[in-house]
Amino acid sequence: MLELLLIIVALAGLVWVMRREAGALPALGVLAVLGLIGVVFGAVTVGILLWLGAAAVAACGLPTLRRRWLTPRLFAAFDKAAPKVSETERTALEAGSVAWDGELFSGRPQWQRLLDFRNAGLSEEERAFVDHQCSVAAGMCNAWEIARERADLPPELWEYLKREGFFGMIIPKRYGGLEFSAKAQSAVLQKLAVNETLMVTVGVPNSLGPGELLLKYGTEEQKNHYLPRLADGREIPCFGLTGPRAGSDATSLPDVGIVCRGQHNGQEILGLKLTFEKRWITLAPIATVVGLAFRMFDPDGLLGDTSDLGITCALIPRDTPGMDIGRRHHPIGSPFMNGPIRGKDVFIPLEWIIGGPDMAGQGWRMLVECLSVGRCITLPSGASGIGRYAVGWAGGFTRIRRQFNLPVADMEGVQEPLARIAAHAYIAQAAVMQTANTIDHGVKPAVPSAILKSQLTEFQRSMLADAMDVHGGRTVTLGPRNYLGIAYSANPVSITVEGANIMTRNLMIFGQGAIRCHPYVLDELAAKDDNDLAAFDKAIFGHAGMVFGNAARAFTQGLGIGKSRVPFDEVAAPYAQEVSRLASAFGLCADAAMASLGSGLKKREMLSARLGDVLSNLYLASMLIKQWHESESVEHEAALMHYSCRTLLYRAEQAFTELFDNLPNRALAMTLSAVALPLGRRWHKPQDRFTRDIARAISTDSALRHKLTADTWNTQEAGQRDNPLARYNALLADSERAEPLYRRIAKAYSQGELPAEALHPEQRVEAAWEAGLIEEDDAIFMRRFEREVLDMLSVDDFAFDAFATDKDRVVWHTT
Ligand SMILES: Cc1cc2nc3c(=O)[nH]c(=O)nc-3n(C[C@H](O)[C@H](O)[C@H](O)COP(=O)(O)OP(=O)(O)OC[C@H]3O[C@@H](n4cnc5c(N)ncnc54)[C@H](O)[C@@H]3O)c2cc1C
Repeated sequence: MLELLLIIVALAGLVWVMRREAGALPALGVLAVLGLIGVVFGAVTVGILLWLGAAAVAACGLPTLRRRWLTPRLFAAFDKAAPKVSETERTALEAGSVAWDGELFSGRPQWQRLLDFRNAGLSEEERAFVDHQCSVAAGMCNAWEIARERADLPPELWEYLKREGFFGMIIPKRYGGLEFSAKAQSAVLQKLAVNETLMVTVGVPNSLGPGELLLKYGTEEQKNHYLPRLADGREIPCFGLTGPRAGSDATSLPDVGIVCRGQHNGQEILGLKLTFEKRWITLAPIATVVGLAFRMFDPDGLLGDTSDLGITCALIPRDTPGMDIGRRHHPIGSPFMNGPIRGKDVFIPLEWIIGGPDMAGQGWRMLVECLSVGRCITLPSGASGIGRYAVGWAGGFTRIRRQFNLPVADMEGVQEPLARIAAHAYIAQAAVMQTANTIDHGVKPAVPSAILKSQLTEFQRSMLADAMDVHGGRTVTLGPRNYLGIAYSANPVSITVEGANIMTRNLMIFGQGAIRCHPYVLDELAAKDDNDLAAFDKAIFGHAGMVFGNAARAFTQGLGIGKSRVPFDEVAAPYAQEVSRLASAFGLCADAAMASLGSGLKKREMLSARLGDVLSNLYLASMLIKQWHESESVEHEAALMHYSCRTLLYRAEQAFTELFDNLPNRALAMTLSAVALPLGRRWHKPQDRFTRDIARAISTDSALRHKLTADTWNTQEAGQRDNPLARYNALLADSERAEPLYRRIAKAYSQGELPAEALHPEQRVEAAWEAGLIEEDDAIFMRRFEREVLDMLSVDDFAFDAFATDKDRVVWHTT
């Protein structure tokens, strides 16, 4: 009996020590003391076994002992197994900084660290800009006119964007820019997402490109010349990295700059002769200055001994002789400016290298260092903005559209996509705003930028598809009245640019995170490179402690024992505890996958993607929890919070399951499954009651709908284009009065109290009024209401030959 008790207490004590990552000394203490009790009280065999365990812990755990015999052996094994990190990869790994992503990787996230990123919101100036300038700009857009009739933004809108500084949001005030916070940039782009061409046109110059590169690396002369001109739109920039041969693998670019002497402004100077071919370059057709990435060579040793200087970035004015620029590509759905740039023997001075000649060969480092911030903001904000409009449009349409005598919003089949749209929009808003907030605190979120870019643009794809589905034929039919169809068809642009989603999900999120965010791996690799045994010992045994800690926490919390303490209310706390639990499981599985597959994990992209999915879903859930914690919740929001968190946790556990199903080492997979999910999966898709609640809320004039569609263009001012969102909002406000009247009239009709030929709602209103069923003011109200409903349900039609660009080839079938 005592034997059994001692074993149980020893195991519990070890798990307790491991959970706290308390180190070898307490573990040794537990085993030694229990061993002594065993020996003294007659359980001699168990006592001796416990002492042997204590000796093993001492040999492996105490630094002075293990450094002599264990660490050198581990070092040799690690040296053999560790993946080789190329120079390009190292540059990417070292770029940016680590914040909440690192906490998740540690398996022991400290929530207070997330809450310490306080959110002060927008400044007065930023708020006024979002409220006014963005509404004016949005009010100048009609998707059909821009996409089909003009294939461009209207000239007055270009003028307005330049005048109001939209292109200089990231440029400091001293250079004439707006110097907006990351949160404000995001809010602007979200509002402008009402039109994808507008969003991209404003987003790109404020993202990775000449502006940001100049700010960070430009010489004073370059900054003083270009930044004021970029801020007020005198210069329109573009950035050319991609070419026919180099897409995702951008560093393989074959474009070259050869150091040589040449003529510039009538003088012979030292410069670069550039030959390049770039494609898909946004804003290129109208750009006045081109940022160009190329490989720089100095074959004649004019600058020094190095012949291959590496990737370099330069700024080249459009009118430089030899530049072939101005043609357009036709991106699917959206006619934003995009085209090829070619150049043959274009001679430029060395001073046009961004940062001057000293920055020759530093181009790739410059690009990846700048990538994180822009990638966190532009496309994720576009996705979040589209989510806001999708909620507004889909909720509005499904309430006013009646079939089978019911608003389609009340049909469960439609409620499902409506709730999904709301949840995706809700998560996207939280993720993008909270991550932007960390940027405002000085973080350069490298891994979160990959998470946000790929996850939120996938949300965008889902939201647009769901919104299209619930609109039926209303948004399938293109024309000036269609507010959704063009955005839907333009969606692949967001999926592909700034790191195509397949590559980002499969290669970058976990691949980069595993080394960049891991608390120990970077130190281990550095110790290996420096041949530093002491540093390696510290890192590898810290790492081992973390593995044991994660295993103990994941297992015990998986059994429901010892939930982590979290600083949240009763709605958010259970989800935060689950994020902590799954983070421990993730930390364990990440280490196990790296240890078992070594450098082979790089090629096992499907496994890497699933680990990336776990991390992504935990990251998004964390942002949601913080957002919930910081903001005042409104009626029905708790349902949306439950729905969203459950969806994310369900997806995280799904990714775990698929990982366990596919890990090649089956024994390891089964062990991990038993430790990480000891009682199986806990999370299922959200229950239907949440779906119904959310769908009703977003399709009525509710506080939740207003919250989700905040900061959209939702006003209709004189001189502006038609605003369907404003019209839906007005209809939903009226529908509280219209709905009972409609039902009263419909009931009277079905009971034969109104003429059978009154088939249209308008005819029934007249008949009901004539029959004294409704008052005159109700009749006036309903006539206006039904007229507006019919107008919002209407679609465009065109002349027979309207779509043919070559009218001569039109066949008039019936003549
Ligand atoms: C409309 C538009 C605007 C753009 N604007 C600019 C711009 O302003 N400046 C600029 O320089 N570039 C721009 N680009 C280029 C854009 O960044 C590239 O399209 C993108 O990097 C992907 O390259 P690719 O299209 O050649 O795809 P490819 O590299 O040919 O990839 C094809 C597919 O393979 C996948 N893939 C590739 N490698 C891997 C991997 N290792 N693991 C898993 N999957 C992988 C990709 O995810 C993709 O799905 C733009 C592109 C478009 C379409």
